[in-house]
Amino acid sequence: MTPIVAQQHPTAARAARSAARVPVTVAFGDGIGPEIMKASLKVLLEAGAGIALEPIEIGEHVYRDGHTAGITPESWDGLRRTKVFYKAPITTPQGGGFKSLNVTVRKTLGLFANVRPSVAYHPFVATKHPGMDVVIVRENEEDLYAGIEHRQTDEVYQCLKLISRPGCERIARYAFAYARAHGRRKVTCFTKDNIMKLTDGLFHRVFDEVAAEYPEIDNEHWIVDIGAAKLADTPQAFDVIVMPNLYGDVLSDVAAQIAGSVGLAPSANIGEHCAMFEAIHGSAPRRAGQDVANPSGLLLAGAMMMAHIGQPEVAERVHNAWLATIEDGVHTYDIFKDGVSRRKVGTMAFADAVIERLGRAPRTLRPAAYASDAKPFAVPRATPRPPARKELVGIDVFVHATKPAEELAREMQTAANDLFALTMITNRGVKVWPNGLPETFCTDHWRCRYLAKPGKQFNKAMALELLAHLTWQGIDFVKTEHLFTFDGEPGYSLGQGQ
Ligand code: NAD
Repeated sequence: MTPIVAQQHPTAARAARSAARVPVTVAFGDGIGPEIMKASLKVLLEAGAGIALEPIEIGEHVYRDGHTAGITPESWDGLRRTKVFYKAPITTPQGGGFKSLNVTVRKTLGLFANVRPSVAYHPFVATKHPGMDVVIVRENEEDLYAGIEHRQTDEVYQCLKLISRPGCERIARYAFAYARAHGRRKVTCFTKDNIMKLTDGLFHRVFDEVAAEYPEIDNEHWIVDIGAAKLADTPQAFDVIVMPNLYGDVLSDVAAQIAGSVGLAPSANIGEHCAMFEAIHGSAPRRAGQDVANPSGLLLAGAMMMAHIGQPEVAERVHNAWLATIEDGVHTYDIFKDGVSRRKVGTMAFADAVIERLGRAPRTLRPAAYASDAKPFAVPRATPRPPARKELVGIDVFVHATKPAEELAREMQTAANDLFALTMITNRGVKVWPNGLPETFCTDHWRCRYLAKPGKQFNKAMALELLAHLTWQGIDFVKTEHLFTFDGEPGYSLGQGQ
């Protein structure tokens, strides 16, 4: 099994070399968090981790105290100083007004790469896929996770999916740099660019550009739906998979579960300045306070952290003792199986079993070799690019209305003139005018597209006049999108039927 090493943090590596203890911000979290964090820290410290822990409070009661992202301003100061965060899962309170702490920390600290290895431990942990060893590199800051959502009409709500070129470039570069550093042979990209041609299309295109710089590493692209099916059925076909945020979020849980258990999977959130290490699972409140939860995901995340801060020998000792424990059949309830497991243990007893095995290597499973198997690599940056020639050619006006398309078109056409024309109306993306079909179901949310006529120009003053006209007409427009070309290429989807 390939060890799970992120790149080394230079400051931290220096500190380790000078035998100083590296400051690490630690949060015990909610639910099962405190139990699995105590167990993990006990193992790491017994293994000789040179870390100075700086605890912070995050999570449920911090939310309840009025901090909408579940974290206090003082905690941010600590995090920005240590630059390394070891975090147990937290409970996000239900209901409006609360922001996801995870998303906030990842985005605020620029932790753009979420590295999630899923490994099968056959025959010691039941799995449908012996030999599975997949690393999902999930883009961590963009996509539908911007949290920009609006209700626009009685019937329609929207969520903005934002994808940037630097975001795509950095995550694609990270995936290939990771593959090269870990001796992995292939990087696969999952997108849905047959439907989302601009956003996912950009992700795919940038992936192809970056792939060309790594000729020794195979590359391929799968449409995410069939790719996900293949991953669930034949994970051995994949090595490193890079994907936009939402697909990566969903599929890394699937990958962890089919490998053995969500309780086993660690994750590293890597940025240029800081890094955060956590299990992929949540706070499992139903299991809290019973000393039954599996601390493995958080413990292996701790091993990734030790490698990151320049102590790969500690990472290796912990990981190998953990593998030996799993091989010896000492299992928590979630992976316990009669006939395979030998002893069912709770959280702390599992940690003690790992501690007893420190210094041992697994007999059957491949030992972890953090120091020799992975080369440290710098966090990649995006390449600066000159701005494109950007030209305004029209406007999409979104309207709240409950009338037939033909009637709406007649009203909207009164705003057109000899410089620009109403060229189409769509409802939820389906063209309903001109030449719509009576079978198309329509909601109360319409997109009306105005484009400059051939040889004519469109500008923002014309857009304002158009909107003023619609206002006097009593049209309830709820949003507009400018239509630009970039170096002559349309920067907007053409719409079905065009
Ligand atoms: P969950 O991952 O907490 O738990 C789902 C189920 O998986 C549990 O009931 C349990 O049966 C099993 N499980 C998870 N971790 C386990 C472990 N270590 N050992 C044994 N079994 C384990 O998912 P959920 O119930 O959907 O979410 C609970 C809370 O966690 C929610 O408030 C959610 O917002 C939060 N959450 C936090 C994080 C995070 O902090 N990183 C991530 C995901 C969910």
